[in-house]
Amino acid sequence: MTILRCTQCSATLKPYPPRYKCEKCGGLLEYALDFEQLRGIKLDGALSFWKYKRLLPEVKNTVTLGEGGTPLHKATRLSKKLGLSAVYLKDETRNPTNSFRDRCAALMVSNALDLKHNSMVCASNGNLGASSAAYCAKSGLTCHIIVPKLVDMGKLAQMLIYDAILDEYGEIVDDSIERAESLAAETGWYQATAELNPLVIEAQKTVAYEVAEQFGVPDWFVVSMGSGGIIYSIWKGFKELQMLGRIETLPKMVGVQAHGCAPIVNAHLKSKSKPTVVHKPSTHALGILVRNPFNGIWALKALTESKGIAVSVSDSEIFTAEQKIARLEGIFAEPASSATIAALEKMVAQGTINKKDSVVCLITASGLKATDVLQALTKKRKTAVVGLELSTKEKILRILSRKDTYGYDLWKKLGKTMTRAAVYQHLNELSERGLVIAYKRERRKYFKITKRGKRALQAIDELKMLL
Ligand SMILES: [Zn+2]
Repeated sequence: MTILRCTQCSATLKPYPPRYKCEKCGGLLEYALDFEQLRGIKLDGALSFWKYKRLLPEVKNTVTLGEGGTPLHKATRLSKKLGLSAVYLKDETRNPTNSFRDRCAALMVSNALDLKHNSMVCASNGNLGASSAAYCAKSGLTCHIIVPKLVDMGKLAQMLIYDAILDEYGEIVDDSIERAESLAAETGWYQATAELNPLVIEAQKTVAYEVAEQFGVPDWFVVSMGSGGIIYSIWKGFKELQMLGRIETLPKMVGVQAHGCAPIVNAHLKSKSKPTVVHKPSTHALGILVRNPFNGIWALKALTESKGIAVSVSDSEIFTAEQKIARLEGIFAEPASSATIAALEKMVAQGTINKKDSVVCLITASGLKATDVLQALTKKRKTAVVGLELSTKEKILRILSRKDTYGYDLWKKLGKTMTRAAVYQHLNELSERGLVIAYKRERRKYFKITKRGKRALQAIDELKMLL
């Protein structure tokens, strides 16, 4: 049994539709278990997400693609390399769309079906978009995804093949979230944005349940932080198991962010209870590129309550770690999750962790989703410059170097993978930099590459030959 409760004024509200803000005081809402009723319940069956159905908010439909029940690998070679005795990797790449977000999509799409919705909307810079698209496809729902300009190519490919309707909005996911909130209010679509639907925290806590069954309670649990939701979910999962009398101790939580975008880490180091907003955030680990973390307060709570620590790591440390887990353990993790290994190395170097301590690192998603980053890495460039944005501008210049054309035609030639507004935005930026010019022909606005644009293309080609 679960209720929806305000974390500020403790008001109890009806559980559905899921919403994140208290109508009375504006506080954040959270589902809570009725521990009295659940004490001693039996959870039978093989390890899977739905095994824990009775510890989740109630749903009648149960949509599944086989999520959860992911392996917990003992990372023997990695442990040895780090000088530790027991490092484990919780391998969420093994979910149906290769990320932990499949747990969330399974629960939310089930709930959306219960509530008789035909369409859902979510803002996502990747994994949740891919998961929602797949589970909507399975259930016959229309999936709208608001994506920011910076998004991993592999994740975009997943959203497209599952036939989601994409709308590019904003530079990073923070902007897209606002758009998704207003869209759902206008249209009545089911709100599946992670930050705006408290079912997400519930779905993700099953990671902790599984680890407790597979291993028990580790001394440390290392998780990367974007909006801060997943670290809180895992902490919550362990606390619930303790309340239910199933475990005795709790892990110390370690929250990891990138140097260039560390609002939660910075706040924790300064003992603040709210995240410090980052003005110009940057990291190539796009899964954790969040300027103003929505669940930051909760992430800080998990860090403080568990007597854990917060660590930030550089992009190059992340890439080195990504290669290390792949070469030593055969796991290809996305940059955001490789950050956990980079952080673990720091903890060892700083003497924060004892040799005998047990550690679980959460591998949130597959590296195949973010190969654009890897491509840059293998070319041994210092920074990954072949992100989506640059490659689109390069593509536009190449098309225009063959023939002048207009915006709509360019959009078609680019494969319709983005909104037309985004194509015009690129054209504006290219013309501001003097790489293309616009002119009128047959009442249409045509674009032409300039001499400077041709030189830029040439420079790109020369650079590619060198690398
Ligand atoms: Zn309230």
